[in-house]
Amino acid sequence: MFDYSAPQDLLKGRVILVTGAGDGIGRACALSCAAHGASVVLLGRTLSKLEAVYDEIEAAGHPQPAICPLNLETAAEKDYDELADQLFDTFGKLDGLVHNAALLGPRTLLDSVKNEAWQQLMQVNVNAPFALTKAMMPLLRTAPDASVIFVSSSVGRKARAYWGPYAVSKFAIEGLMQVMADEQEGTSEIRVNSVNPGATRTAMRKAAYPAEEPEKNPEPAQIMPVFLYLLGPDSKGVNGQALDARG
Ligand code: NDP
Repeated sequence: MFDYSAPQDLLKGRVILVTGAGDGIGRACALSCAAHGASVVLLGRTLSKLEAVYDEIEAAGHPQPAICPLNLETAAEKDYDELADQLFDTFGKLDGLVHNAALLGPRTLLDSVKNEAWQQLMQVNVNAPFALTKAMMPLLRTAPDASVIFVSSSVGRKARAYWGPYAVSKFAIEGLMQVMADEQEGTSEIRVNSVNPGATRTAMRKAAYPAEEPEKNPEPAQIMPVFLYLLGPDSKGVNGQALDARG
């Protein structure tokens, strides 16, 4: 695992938005950020799942989170702008933005992928993170040292056959990260990096590898050190890096 031990109050006073916060790695990230003192903005498409995470954070006595039900497949520019306005009114800044939500999509020969499925996946995995980041830039600039994380994949760094639009979308995410990171370098305090979680025990992993023993892979909570490192002040100055949750 990525070698980092986070102090309990690492994220005290920070406001962190996590997409896909209702399940899997995003849920673990939201819970972990809250447990380390952050006010977490839970963005996702299934309200009941977001409410369950909200209740868990509240029951644990961590800072009060906020819920943002939004379907990244259908969200428009005005939805992102409205969210930015709401966050400005509630928190006045954004210290962390974790682009975690994604679709796996069809895993087949590229020439068998339906155009519609390609576009749906690119909308959620690439276009939405771009539009959300753009809308959040004024809030990120207001924070003293904001951190943006794009959740990537091993197939977004070295492609493999049959990983279809998912792999291509993760290459795009790495590109988005690199362009943004280079633009922020020396011009702002915002750092921008990507994380490859590696095989992790979630619904997406199960869908990709149905025959695999789930116990073979770590739970989402076990891969949190790299996220905490990048979201907290210890990673100030780390920019444009493609990191691995497994170290
Ligand atoms: P899951 O499928 O378990 O969770 C994905 C989350 O994204 C869910 O909460 C889901 O919402 C949300 N989501 C999907 N589509 C939308 C949408 N249109 N609008 C809003 N939210 C949406 O995936 P993982 O936790 O496994 O994956 C998290 C990230 O890690 C992804 O970026 C994935 O590519 C990456 N990754 C995962 C690996 C693994 O082994 N698990 C390995 C490498 C990378 P809902 O709950 O409502 O469906």
